[in-house]
Amino acid sequence: MGSRTYRAEAIVLKTNDFAEADRILVLFTRHFGKVRVVAKGIRRATSRMAGHAEPLTHATYQLARGRELDVLTGAEARAIYPDMRDDLALIAAGWYVAELVDRFTADRVPSAPLFDLLETALRALDAGIAAPVVCRWFDLHVLDRSGFRPELGVCAHCRAALGEQTNAWEPAVGGAMCASCAAKQSYVAPLTVRALKSLRYLLVSDLAAAARLRLDAPLTHELDRHLRAFLRYVLDRDISSTRLLDEVRDLPRPARVS
Ligand SMILES: [Zn+2]
Repeated sequence: MGSRTYRAEAIVLKTNDFAEADRILVLFTRHFGKVRVVAKGIRRATSRMAGHAEPLTHATYQLARGRELDVLTGAEARAIYPDMRDDLALIAAGWYVAELVDRFTADRVPSAPLFDLLETALRALDAGIAAPVVCRWFDLHVLDRSGFRPELGVCAHCRAALGEQTNAWEPAVGGAMCASCAAKQSYVAPLTVRALKSLRYLLVSDLAAAARLRLDAPLTHELDRHLRAFLRYVLDRDISSTRLLDEVRDLPRPARVS
């Protein structure tokens, strides 16, 4: 028999309230993968741990093994990302990356690289890096680390080189498609040269380098459209937090106060 209690560094992916004052937390832990735990009495005003039971909190949690769900018994905050929480566009992006991690992981399958990816994205949002850059960088890297890297080097259909011209984007064949394959299809989404170059750059860059990418509105929309279609194809469902991202995207952004 191992110890009944253990500690786990984790980021809260989502929460669900139930009963009178309890909450289920879906934790993405650095070492044990995704774990569902119950926080008993967390919604009472007197709960010491309430501040650690919100989505996107990064903390070290103390947990006790339970029959069905493990039970939260203590927490020490590591990062609460205060600047991200002050900006609706950034927090919507935070929920989006957390939802993607939830969709791409099964319970209790450890994935430290994915944990690092999520932590990097949340830190970048908290540092004020534009939400579309962080989200598109995250899309490509979560796909890559999950075994679904889109083909950007050659035509995913015929393996021919992609010409310096508008090609096509076809999630069903695995990524970019050359103009001559595209001409044989009844409909494919056009992939502009600069969108292809941006996707290649984002895939090989770390987030600090990705943040130097200049995304104007048409390019932002094109990348968003292509990766959303790709993720929908891979996951066979929509990402629900994209609705909030769409709603906040066109709101005027308040100046950051420092
Ligand atoms: Zn082709």
